[in-house]
Amino acid sequence: MAYQENKDLLASALKQIPSQGIVNIIDGNHQLSVSGESFSNYSPVDNEKICAVTKSTEADVDLAALAAKKAFNEWKKWPHKKRRDIMYAIADKIEEHADRIAVLESYDTGQPIRFMKKAAIRGAANFRYFGDKVIDAPNGLSTPDTHHLNFTVKQPIGPVGVITPWNTPFMLSTWKIAPALASGCTVVHKPAELSPVTATLLCELAHEAGLPSGVWNVVHGFGESAGKALTEHEAIKAIAFIGETNTGSLIMKQGAPTLKRVHLELGGQNPTIVFEDADLDRALDAAIFMKYSLNGERCTSGSRLLLQESIYGPFVEKLKQRVSNLIIGDPLDPATEIGPMIHKVHQDKVLSYGEIGKHDGATLAVGGDAPDMVGCYVNPTLFTDAHKDMRISQEEVFGPFLTVIPFKDEAEAVEIANSVQYGLTAYIWTKDSSRGHRMALNVESGMVWINSQNVRHLPAPFGGVKNSGIGRDGGEYSFDFYMETKNIAVALGDHVIPKLGNS
Ligand code: NAD
Repeated sequence: MAYQENKDLLASALKQIPSQGIVNIIDGNHQLSVSGESFSNYSPVDNEKICAVTKSTEADVDLAALAAKKAFNEWKKWPHKKRRDIMYAIADKIEEHADRIAVLESYDTGQPIRFMKKAAIRGAANFRYFGDKVIDAPNGLSTPDTHHLNFTVKQPIGPVGVITPWNTPFMLSTWKIAPALASGCTVVHKPAELSPVTATLLCELAHEAGLPSGVWNVVHGFGESAGKALTEHEAIKAIAFIGETNTGSLIMKQGAPTLKRVHLELGGQNPTIVFEDADLDRALDAAIFMKYSLNGERCTSGSRLLLQESIYGPFVEKLKQRVSNLIIGDPLDPATEIGPMIHKVHQDKVLSYGEIGKHDGATLAVGGDAPDMVGCYVNPTLFTDAHKDMRISQEEVFGPFLTVIPFKDEAEAVEIANSVQYGLTAYIWTKDSSRGHRMALNVESGMVWINSQNVRHLPAPFGGVKNSGIGRDGGEYSFDFYMETKNIAVALGDHVIPKLGNS
């Protein structure tokens, strides 16, 4: 769709938000928070207020958790085929409304429409994929012994809490909620306070698709109040969380008294490692894509580019030219490659790393400042000649900000790659297949791509090591989180039973 069409569609989508703003959905009902308080949601594109958002506290979370608990008793027993069909119907609804979702998400988060269109469709794919898995999800293993037949079945853990961040919030919500529903769990979703718009729309579409009341509830509000209450609620059996590492740690702590199962998808400072024998043109395209797509607000982005010394100079020259050419602008414009940061506070954080990089002695090659535009924009930034211990190499900047570090050989590449607290993804570029495999084994990360950008395959495990998270998503791995495994042992005959008190 052309730019003007996107703007027209946004205008009509915004008109559909009711005058009271965005409210909770609890037990199938739209409702204001118990306190009646709300907060304002602004667009980072033009700093205009989008809508009011109801501000939930413990009392609202309690209502939602109890609704999810009540609905669980029925939902877990739903015939599998019927549950699968609902999942398909939700996918159909998302596809039907994909353009509306994409423009709203773009305006709410600042993410370029070129990526948000795909993210909405991907959300539908998540529901379809996990819909396909509904029928097999309860299957377990058979482990026969001499006198007993042991077999396992998998059963949904119960009502779960899903807490999501503001970067690509629609897609990330579907990624968590689809497997939860497929497992037979019910859900209370607490979306990020900075990007609440599509969460309510998604839940509404699920109800339109026929999802019963109470199975999926949405509670809007802040992390320290609504989010915290969700992690502490007795009726909630597990928390699926995506967000910052510090918040993940808090969530474990808050969930400890009620022994919550937690799945944490956290931050990253991921390396792209380019050896001299790589296809350098493809490596350049991928390095740029993996840092500057999605505004660089992407947990899996290749934020550190490790370049072998022998190719360093020419590669950096090409990189500088390409980064200088990136198109920054209104995210609703299909030509835009970089939109605004989510919020003024985040814009300031990203900009502060421009000063930090200079102070640490790296070379500012491109950007480092804000363009003269209304909105939370940051110019695409490139630091070269960096060292592994600098803050711009160690900390998650989470913006269009790339740090380039030279290395001598394979051993040094591994040392630099592993020198951070994080371990989410790594991207390795070499034509030497043995070296590619060695590197893949030696880098500390949950996922590695060799000669590729991040291409997600839904059955493959997704997750990080070290401070990037605990647990895996995707395919069967999601069911390990949302389901309990129960062993059932059946005696095959008259095996020996020890007799006590029989003297
Ligand atoms: P954040 O941790 O600030 O917030 C995430 C969510 O947690 C929000 O909904 C927030 O309200 C809630 N929250 C905050 N404090 C809470 C508390 N005490 N208890 C319960 N909930 C609480 O993260 P963010 O800034 O929204 O998102 C950016 C971060 O997310 C980055 O670090 C990024 O790397 C990470 N991320 C990771 C992945 C992954 O798959 N590993 C994917 C996307 C984003």
